[in-house]
Amino acid sequence: MEELYKDFISQLNIKEDGLVYFKDDRSVLLSVPWFTAMQRELEGIMGADGAFVLIESAARRWASRTVKDYVPLVKGKPFEEKIKFVLQMHSVTGWGNWELAEFSSSPLQVVIKETKPYHEDTYGGKADGPRCYYQSGLVALIEELAKLEGLPPIKGTETKCMAQGDPHCEFVFHS
Ligand SMILES: [Zn+2]
Repeated sequence: MEELYKDFISQLNIKEDGLVYFKDDRSVLLSVPWFTAMQRELEGIMGADGAFVLIESAARRWASRTVKDYVPLVKGKPFEEKIKFVLQMHSVTGWGNWELAEFSSSPLQVVIKETKPYHEDTYGGKADGPRCYYQSGLVALIEELAKLEGLPPIKGTETKCMAQGDPHCEFVFHS
């Protein structure tokens, strides 16, 4: 884990233009509370579904760019190990505490779990549905990796969320 963290930090560059780059992508470092507050604002303006669609579309775009950075890092690993690596990276970069809870290959089914959602206790366990909108990026990344692996297409959905009072957040993927 520590090694992954060091590797992540070593890939951050502040170039001569004063901007921050992660690998070759211009990046913005943002705090988790800031993102959560923005999510809450969006929900107030466009409702939970609207906020989800907007954040999901940005997060999926992030995933379609980022998957190319992951490909060399996970090359040659079995799909299950690829997922574990992606979850570790996601945890290292501050977006939760992730683990692979279930993996079966035929039919392909993956369950990932997290116990420290970025919105913390913002919803007090009283939301009327899952609220880990930002994690659509992680979901899309795993879907993309499955595609590159030549596996049947899978789709991930958040089925449990601490925002709605579940003991942890959970995302289930299947074809
Ligand atoms: Zn959640």
